[in-house]
Amino acid sequence: MTTTTTNTAPAMAAPARIFTPYIDGHADNIRNSQIIDNIDPANGTVFARVAAAGEDDVNRAVDAARRAFLAGTWSKAEPGVRHNVLLRLAELMEEHLEELARLESKEAGKPLKSCREGDIPDAIEAIRWYAQTVDKQFGKISPTRPGSVGLITTEPIGVVAAVIPWNFPIATLAWKIGPALATGNSVVVKPAVQTPLGALRIAELASAAGLPDGVFNVVPGRGHIAGRALGLHPDIDAVTFTGSTEVGREFLRYSADSNLKEVSLELGGKSPQLVFADNEERLDAVIEQVAIAGFSNMGENCTAGARVFVQRPLFDTFVERLIRESARWTVGDPASVDTQIGPLIDEAQLIRVQKYVEVASATGATIATGGRRVLEETSGWFFEPTVILDAAPDSAIMREEVFGPVVTVTPFDTEEEAISLANDTQYGLAASVYTRDLAAAHRVSRAIHAGTVSVNSYSEGDISTPFGGYKQSGFGGRDKGIEALAQYTNTKTTWIDLEA
Ligand code: NAP
Ligand code: MG
Repeated sequence: MTTTTTNTAPAMAAPARIFTPYIDGHADNIRNSQIIDNIDPANGTVFARVAAAGEDDVNRAVDAARRAFLAGTWSKAEPGVRHNVLLRLAELMEEHLEELARLESKEAGKPLKSCREGDIPDAIEAIRWYAQTVDKQFGKISPTRPGSVGLITTEPIGVVAAVIPWNFPIATLAWKIGPALATGNSVVVKPAVQTPLGALRIAELASAAGLPDGVFNVVPGRGHIAGRALGLHPDIDAVTFTGSTEVGREFLRYSADSNLKEVSLELGGKSPQLVFADNEERLDAVIEQVAIAGFSNMGENCTAGARVFVQRPLFDTFVERLIRESARWTVGDPASVDTQIGPLIDEAQLIRVQKYVEVASATGATIATGGRRVLEETSGWFFEPTVILDAAPDSAIMREEVFGPVVTVTPFDTEEEAISLANDTQYGLAASVYTRDLAAAHRVSRAIHAGTVSVNSYSEGDISTPFGGYKQSGFGGRDKGIEALAQYTNTKTTWIDLEA
């Protein structure tokens, strides 16, 4: 690991502007809300303040969303109109790319370079891609007997709540609002408490793009207050959630205890990376991908390739080279172009990651490299890239989502063993398989129980490919791809009797 010097910003006096919920097309007044400080994870200073939405604010946002939906300003707008407004939103996001990248880097501690070159361009692409679907979706006619016509059409579901995590705040938002808005719904977004500013700014840009008032509302605040109020709200038709498995369960309970709203869950993961022995010739390229899978976005990634399995003949060389590669990952100020690992999102996450590594070490695992908090003098929550060996199959480090730059490496002998190790998890979000053997690549990909399997790379696909989990990584609908539209639509059959 190398480090960059962090520019510790001078401790700021609390800034004057207090960000507020965005309801019915404008920033709300400050009501009797609790004010939450937004802390810069790179130096622990307060850089913004946000009026947290309470239950009343959530109710007003849902009312505005429902009014807009019923008025039909968006839900019944001509496809060409929806198409153009969403394209204009993508254009405005592009014009503000640098601003959005800096905002996201600041509030989430993500390396600015990856926000600028990855997350924000991906979010723009998602909005543009779904804009293009608006006027290219056709209904179906069923193969009925001659005396009748069966029309199969889709309709927007109504008012959708999108509850978002902090790790990819703007890209996840775009994956949700792109298809939700394209299909004519009204949306209420609850961003994570650590990262509300991106969603609030995009709501302003959406209004500027011509999205009618009330169609896109944002209620920043706490999960157990604003998130819960959305989950239990009787007038929300569907929830789309990305975050922890634990909170995903809560949303199922909320639905059961209220109006049986539809719930789509994108949850945690503990994704395997299987490296077969035939990679000897191209080991550098494989190791680069494995490191990206484990360390990029500080490992705060639901698809993080945290469990690495390497076929025995390659194991020792692989470990040695992975340790060398991890030393090349620069930890430091997210605003620096040299930084690949910024701070973890907050102190709680740092403590959580430290604890996992400590427990692993205390229960027999070997910390081959990393394992410590670094740059403590900056007051940021930095943790170095970490490689762990000899972890027991049932240990927490092999079973639970750590959400830090930490991977375990374990040897295997046969293909069958690799498959069984890969599937030995409650999760099923993603996996990578590295082999030059085409038949083995197909066999193993088919045998892995996960929503996305990438071959010879670490990837979540692109905007055209659906994304979501098997097992406890989620269910109910997919993000991305044409498949995502189903999350936000009801299917209607209209049966016409031609002989009546
Ligand atoms: P989280 O607690 O599941 O939060 C996700 C969203 O749900 C946030 O907006 C959160 O609000 C809200 N929420 C929290 N508790 C809630 C409740 N009781 N009722 C309704 N909404 C609630 O996830 P997190 O805080 O972002 O991260 C915690 C862990 O989740 C991570 O360490 C990681 O293991 C996992 N995670 C997984 C993914 C993924 O994509 N699979 C993404 C992020 C995190 P608050 O901001 O107030 O908490
Ligand atoms: Mg949380």
